[in-house]
Amino acid sequence: MSTITIAPPPSGAQHAPPLQKETTAGSYFITNYPPFNFWKPEFVPDLLAALERPPAQLSTLNSQLSTVPLGLYTHIPFCRKRCHFCYFKVYTDKDSSEIKGYIDAVLKEFALYADKPFVGGRKPRFIYFGGGTPSYLSPDQLKYLTDGMKRLMPWDEAEEITFEAEPGTLTDHKLRAIRELGVTRLSLGIEHFDDHILEINGRAHRSKEIARAYAYAREIGFPQINIDLIAGMVEETEEKWVEAVAKAVAMRPDSLTVYQMEVPYNTGIYQQMKAQGKLVAPVADWQTKRRWVDYAFREFEKFGYAVNSTSTVVRDPAKVKFLYREGLFSGADLLSVGVASFGHINGVHYQNQADFEPYLAKVNAGELPIFRAYPTKPDERYIREFMLMLKLGANSRSQFKAKFGTDPLEQFAEPLALLKDWGCLSVEGDRIVLTRDALLQVDRLLIEFFKPEHRLTKNG
Ligand code: SF4
Repeated sequence: MSTITIAPPPSGAQHAPPLQKETTAGSYFITNYPPFNFWKPEFVPDLLAALERPPAQLSTLNSQLSTVPLGLYTHIPFCRKRCHFCYFKVYTDKDSSEIKGYIDAVLKEFALYADKPFVGGRKPRFIYFGGGTPSYLSPDQLKYLTDGMKRLMPWDEAEEITFEAEPGTLTDHKLRAIRELGVTRLSLGIEHFDDHILEINGRAHRSKEIARAYAYAREIGFPQINIDLIAGMVEETEEKWVEAVAKAVAMRPDSLTVYQMEVPYNTGIYQQMKAQGKLVAPVADWQTKRRWVDYAFREFEKFGYAVNSTSTVVRDPAKVKFLYREGLFSGADLLSVGVASFGHINGVHYQNQADFEPYLAKVNAGELPIFRAYPTKPDERYIREFMLMLKLGANSRSQFKAKFGTDPLEQFAEPLALLKDWGCLSVEGDRIVLTRDALLQVDRLLIEFFKPEHRLTKNG
């Protein structure tokens, strides 16, 4: 068997703190700020008060005011099987009447928000169906859910509707139904093409289903198809990764997202580690995973794709947008419904009840099912947005100054000087730009921007 060696990325961060080498248990990626364990049930009244205020106005670069955009997120917590690396709240045992009960609850929850002052006449600009597996629902269930949502908040101004799908749940008929709902961006959770790797990691689908689903989706003509891969699944090898990337390139998706495998405590992999008394997860170390992502990026770049975040390449950056991510990172209001979902309204973060029964009980009693919240302070909003937008590779000083009133070079003088010293970033006129090497490990660098009281933990 020939050995394929993937060249390491050019080194940049020579003096950065030592790399965490092995993959140990715990959350690695920064997805929000302040960290989740600062969100508390006692802050729920702050969210309730935020719902009663009109939407916030933002200063823009040309000194005009614009209303904060509104997005919707609907969580569908059902899957055919639980993947061994999954850390989401998912259910694999619900029958059709329980699923119908859940959809009814989601619609009731939307109805509780629809007339609140924070909506302020806005229509959603972007909509996201995530999970779990939204494509687990039947075409009839999806139509019932989305018709109900559209009655409460019309979608006629939505520029992007994203739908996550697991390849094995997609038939030609279901894909057509999904497109007819208005979905513009289909995100296929492929993760890998090798049947043994898919099986050993607990995925429900196999390679044949990927090929079939992708061909249907292309034929139907979704405006945008994203495919997801994971670098560093259990039993991944250099050779298999090279093959997986070649297959992904051959599909010519509109965008590719590559996740580096992390092993949070609520995964099957961690349970197994615990039972065996192991501290290191049976997956590649962080340096190898970064090298694999870098390899995937470089292979796609050969075909004209552009890297536009720590985990994404896009075929045509001028056309292929991802408004949900942009909105989420830049502090848009995100009205989020469903069990365990995360939202943000008028500066207050919130998360719903994390279990099925308490969630249903609250909504069916006519109450919002919010479990915990966090009212952000202005400096925390600045930190959050600056860090999350940096995950896209570069930030504009003038845009941040217009929005928050101070130049990021002043606001974040210390951490920026540190990252510059480490060779991780440069200031090029208006732009603060990360090196490729830093972009691939940005999550461990972002902690330098945290307020001291938030530093003990990243995500909690
Ligand atoms: S399909 Fe996604 S949400 Fe469902 S179990 Fe697997 S990783 Fe989790």
